[in-house]
Amino acid sequence: MAIQRPKGTQDLLPGTVEQWQYLEETIRKVCRDYGYEEIRTPIFEATELFQRGVGQTTDIVKKEMYTFLDKGDRSMTLRPEGTASVCRAYVEDKLYGQSQPVKLYYSGPMFRYERPQSGRFRQFHQFGVEVLGADQPIVDAEVICLVWDLYQRLGLKGLEVHLNSVGCPTCRAAHREQLQRFLTTRKSELCQDCQERYERNPLRILDCKNPNCQAVTEGAPTTLDTLCDDCRSHFEKVLSLLSGAGVAYRVDPRLVRGLDYYTKTAFEVMVEEIGAQSAICGGGRYDGLVEEIGGPATPGIGFAMGLERVLAALQVQGKFPDPKSKLFAMLIALGDKAQNEGFAIMNALRGKGVPVGMDLLGRSLKAQLKAANREGAEFALILGEEELERQVLLLRDLNSGEQTEVPLSKAIEVIYMKHQRGV
Ligand SMILES: [Zn+2]
Ligand SMILES: [Zn+2]
Repeated sequence: MAIQRPKGTQDLLPGTVEQWQYLEETIRKVCRDYGYEEIRTPIFEATELFQRGVGQTTDIVKKEMYTFLDKGDRSMTLRPEGTASVCRAYVEDKLYGQSQPVKLYYSGPMFRYERPQSGRFRQFHQFGVEVLGADQPIVDAEVICLVWDLYQRLGLKGLEVHLNSVGCPTCRAAHREQLQRFLTTRKSELCQDCQERYERNPLRILDCKNPNCQAVTEGAPTTLDTLCDDCRSHFEKVLSLLSGAGVAYRVDPRLVRGLDYYTKTAFEVMVEEIGAQSAICGGGRYDGLVEEIGGPATPGIGFAMGLERVLAALQVQGKFPDPKSKLFAMLIALGDKAQNEGFAIMNALRGKGVPVGMDLLGRSLKAQLKAANREGAEFALILGEEELERQVLLLRDLNSGEQTEVPLSKAIEVIYMKHQRGV
């Protein structure tokens, strides 16, 4: 039996991969324009990094990690997300010693053991940015503007940023108390997960998708109700900067990120698809994370998006540029000697950056001309035995059908100039 690729993975074939390249190139351009530099971290890390950096209580760490013992009996895990690795590198490579803030982006495959029927992939791809070493609200606004701008450049419509502030450890303690008091008499109506969350992490109850839990928490105190002065002015400043930048946003007090190291701004970018809104990017501030994984106390903020998700949104909205024609010219050589001469000409032109192709299957003139049209070539460069004898090359314009002769000694220069002029 033929071997198949693992469940939840995909082969990205020519025809599709161009869409990925377009997305990745747009991402790189936006990041450069905003002064973000790329970081590439290992695909696998010590398991402990994700236990501490993503959180022992999360579904990712509890159920979804690809964890294995290597031959030295060390527990390793294929990275399920990017932020923990970037923070580890910030500490290990002493990026805190450079001028701050450090503005980084990453893009690459991530691994989670998801149920395949949910339409998710076990190897999927994420792009994200992280800004480390700056706690000012203008940083939060810049990060949100970057993702907003990316989606604008891609041409996505129906976008809205949802954001909230989850406060800091100080004001969150007050919120926790108020929320527990609010829920104390109705605790038994919550789902099993939320009953566990009640003691450990009640904030996450606000985020539960269970309709019962949503009904129970209606009117519950939100983190916005208990923000301390510092957190409140930070949040208001972020909102006013976003307004000034023309970002469409909505404050959503139920948007929470449940781990202790998440602080202040939390956000999602929503896109409208067939009547419903869904998130295509999530992010927020994590002023406690670098310390959590053993580094110096360092403020941080970032976001991540699944590229499969963004491509799906682009497909729904039909937003891909036309794939450009690949070849400028097709060299058509007939006969063994002409093939040698033509091969040399083709290589000289390729060396000058002119995309030229040549038949690799020993086909007839007619079939080669057909192939030239199929490849979208502007010119056919025809070299038969007769042309070789007269030391000329036939230059056929495939759009007009017009045909000229060029001396073989000048052929490379003439075609190169035509390509430069875009003719
Ligand atoms: Zn606070
Ligand atoms: Zn629940």
